[in-house]
Amino acid sequence: MIVMKFGGTSVGNAARIEGVASLIISRLKEKPVVVVSAVTKVTDLLVQAGQEALHGESYQKTVEKIKTLHQEILSSLKIEIPEAESFYGKLLDTCAEIAQKKELSARSEDLIVSFGERFSCRILAEVIRKKGTPAKAFDAWDVGFVTTDDFTQAKLLPAAEKEVKRKITGLDVVPVITGFIGKTSIGEITTLGRGGSDLSASLIGAAIDAKAIEIWTDVPGIMTADPRLIPTARSLPSVTFQEAAELSVFGAKVLHPKTIEPAMKKNIPVLVKNTFEPTHPGTVILAEAKEASGIKAVTVKKKITSINIYSTGMLEAPGFLSRVFGILQNHGMSVDVVATSEVNISLTLDNTENLEAARKELALFSEISVQTDRAIVCLVGEELKFTPGIAGRVFGLLGKAGINIEMISQGASQINLTFVVGSADAKKAVEILHAEFFERGRKSM
Ligand code: ADP
Ligand code: ASP
Ligand code: MG
Repeated sequence: MIVMKFGGTSVGNAARIEGVASLIISRLKEKPVVVVSAVTKVTDLLVQAGQEALHGESYQKTVEKIKTLHQEILSSLKIEIPEAESFYGKLLDTCAEIAQKKELSARSEDLIVSFGERFSCRILAEVIRKKGTPAKAFDAWDVGFVTTDDFTQAKLLPAAEKEVKRKITGLDVVPVITGFIGKTSIGEITTLGRGGSDLSASLIGAAIDAKAIEIWTDVPGIMTADPRLIPTARSLPSVTFQEAAELSVFGAKVLHPKTIEPAMKKNIPVLVKNTFEPTHPGTVILAEAKEASGIKAVTVKKKITSINIYSTGMLEAPGFLSRVFGILQNHGMSVDVVATSEVNISLTLDNTENLEAARKELALFSEISVQTDRAIVCLVGEELKFTPGIAGRVFGLLGKAGINIEMISQGASQINLTFVVGSADAKKAVEILHAEFFERGRKSM
């Protein structure tokens, strides 16, 4: 069996959905298990509807937009979804309840956004069926995808894996499963976090011991940089699990940051392929590098906040760091980059919802300063372990360009070189590094 996951743009209109259905049918011998995201823009619109309901604005118009978007697809494909009316009804009722209570819980947010994938999987399954191949749409929970109740950030329960395997391997049709969503053991709808369909695909792939997990998207694999930022970025034939994990954590949106872990545990290759150019080899992600390893990519992650915690003499005191991390953890804040000195610890955070509360607790035993509007820039590649002088080259170039570097960290894995800059400098930093490491040829390594 193979897992084939299709992202939102891959199923963005009727013609694309037809193309995806044919692609799946061309792989029947490999027993494809399909995972699909919501039609492009639909999740954003669902989030918007929830926000509008919360703020007493007209969410009905947004729901109408979602309806039109799906309706156009359904009519050009000449198909229908029997559940459509009940889905819209439930969506409108949920929004009305939010508007009335003036409260949007994470639980209701997950319920609202779940409709995107529930529509798209039914559309795709119907198109495959219309082409003469037996296929069936499944909400993830119908194939045993039971999660924790961490709404908006749920995790698959380890005990669910066996059930997922049992349910999927017993099927004699092509399953088309919702990405992104699941249900708790008491039947409440959850999501794995934005972009989570990649993670659904990899969790399902690991559960069924798939031969490969294919992530079909709108670019030809993992590239040396985000092609939207750097038009000259090129696609990488292969990267290691470690490299892919670092790339996605530090901003390469092409994979959800948690996608790699389940695949790596079972040593299942992950392929990143372009739906619009299926013959392009894309990128294969494996345990070991297939070719001479170089520096693979430069990534950027924006909207970052950094905090500096200053505590004279305390840093070496037993328990200081664990106290700091304990407070951040209790407030649900995850840390990306850490740098310490004798008297300082600097951290970056990408979620600052509870920053004020955490700040108060930290201020009980240290001085805190906060800087918003930062960006993390990261160079990734196994080669960084073995090549001396790269840091000198990087910071020399950026210094020459007048870019101020605020924190530097070489991850414990030693395959990334990460630093923080002001958001306004991020694009320039990425352009300079891309030109230096990827546009002057490998000889410059
Ligand atoms: P999907 O809807 O298929 O899940 P996403 O939009 O989530 O697709 O991810 C694909 C996008 O990731 C690309 O269009 C590209 O702009 C962005 N991206 C960011 N960094 C990279 C990178 N290093 N390589 C490839 N794509 C990248
Ligand atoms: N539809 C969800 C989102 O837009 C999940 C995904 O596309 O992976 O975040
Ligand atoms: Mg995605």
